[in-house]
Amino acid sequence: MTELTNWINGQRVKSTSGRFADVYNPATGEVQAKTPLSTAAELNDAVAKAAEAQKAWGATNPQRRARVMMAFGALINKHMDELAEMLSREHGKTLPDARGDVQRGLEVVEVCMGAPSLLKGEFTDDGGPGIDLYSMRQPLGVVAGITPFNFPAMIPLWKMAPALACGNAMILKPSERVPSTALRLAELIQEAGLPDGVLQVVNGDKEVVDAILDNETIAGVGFVGSTPIAQYIYGRAATNGKRAQCFGGAKNHMIIMPDADLDKAADALVGAGYGAAGERCMAISVAVPVGQKTADALIEKLVPRIEKLKVGPYTAGEDVDYGPVITATAKSRIEGLIDSGVNQGAKLVIDGRGFEMQGYENGFFVGPSLFDNVTPDMDIYREEIFGPVLSQVRADSYEEALNLVIDNPYGNGTAIYTADGDTARDFAHRVNVGMVGINFPIPVPLSYHTFGGWKKSAFGDLNQYGPDAFRFYTKTKTVTARWFSGIKDGAAFNFKAMD
Ligand code: NAD
Repeated sequence: MTELTNWINGQRVKSTSGRFADVYNPATGEVQAKTPLSTAAELNDAVAKAAEAQKAWGATNPQRRARVMMAFGALINKHMDELAEMLSREHGKTLPDARGDVQRGLEVVEVCMGAPSLLKGEFTDDGGPGIDLYSMRQPLGVVAGITPFNFPAMIPLWKMAPALACGNAMILKPSERVPSTALRLAELIQEAGLPDGVLQVVNGDKEVVDAILDNETIAGVGFVGSTPIAQYIYGRAATNGKRAQCFGGAKNHMIIMPDADLDKAADALVGAGYGAAGERCMAISVAVPVGQKTADALIEKLVPRIEKLKVGPYTAGEDVDYGPVITATAKSRIEGLIDSGVNQGAKLVIDGRGFEMQGYENGFFVGPSLFDNVTPDMDIYREEIFGPVLSQVRADSYEEALNLVIDNPYGNGTAIYTADGDTARDFAHRVNVGMVGINFPIPVPLSYHTFGGWKKSAFGDLNQYGPDAFRFYTKTKTVTARWFSGIKDGAAFNFKAMD
């Protein structure tokens, strides 16, 4: 049994807490490692060391910091397969999907190679007589990243790359279910030239998170996880005067118009609904066909596609469509929600409960489920299932479908399938959701745009990665400077507009 560690001042350091969490291989159900649940004292010590290291790192010019990102990007590429295998073993996702997890994180590292341009300030020449104004972006100091289980490489990279490129030190608190990848990334960025202490990985649970939120040195917190925890962290961080951006859960709808290419829509729904066992914050969990004819035809197209899905362990190779869910608790929660859907009157078209894999009887596998005739009052509609379950809600008109999305408390992602540009344009304009796909099922923006939901899917300001991350991880300082021409014309006492 491997005992995992923290990463402090450039070394793997054993925690002294004596408390551990089990890290499973979700495909076999076996505990493969234990990860420390560090104490508040260990966290505070890591922060003090990070604050010391940040002084020189923050004073290193942006181009040199960018070179560390360049070397880091090259190392991630070189170790792509190793990282993918490592995260599949703890998370359960297929190897091609795991490579995508690393790749979408790497793309944020690539944008951070442009840190010198992104950190440029602003300048106003002659804002008044002899007066110039300039603003500069300075690092916050020590910041923290708290990440979820479902993207063990991508989301830690979304946090650490921009934070470090901006000259901050970071405390990274990965999910206790998938801690190995973050530790390996810390080793790789050290090899790329990051000075010791600038990135500290402190493993743990609520005790460490609360210590982060109460530590006076930590100036900013970036969180990704479920909505109740996002809201809690945002509240406590803000009360303690920290900058916070906290991204939460989702319930993403896809509207299918009668003029849509239904084969393409069905393919997209199967990939976006069941890929990664539905454990994506951008998964489509609700299909909303418009009109009864569209709904009947869509179900006909979905059923054979879903019945063909291959569920299995990542070791079975590229042939598997999705793997197990993260824990036994997640499996029973998902199956409990499927029970509730049946009890509350939805039509269970395909039942994924009780799924067993030969040779992997203790794995946390859930077969694909498809519901029809779901209504907004049912638990399967109201809750984020975070499993391989797709619900079809029938709408009679475009307006009814649109209002369903608008009235939903979550606002992470949404999509529309249609052949009509005017409908697509109207949808993109009116919908109150942060990321919108038009004939595109999982609209995760590219790394030079930004990622963020609306409503209960995000708390705080500014999105993740792209230019917003450079704003989040820096403070703006604006200088108004006057150089006299040599004639002293007296002091001014009143607060007034520029002459
Ligand atoms: P989670 O909220 O259980 O855990 C996220 C992090 O918070 C972990 O590091 C965990 O240790 C910590 N945490 C858990 N309980 C805590 C508590 N009571 N107090 C303090 N810290 C606590 O989320 P998860 O199950 O790891 O991830 C799945 C969730 O993340 C889903 O809801 C999914 O939609 C969401 N998610 C959102 C995005 C996004 O960008 N909006 C991206 C990925 C995942």
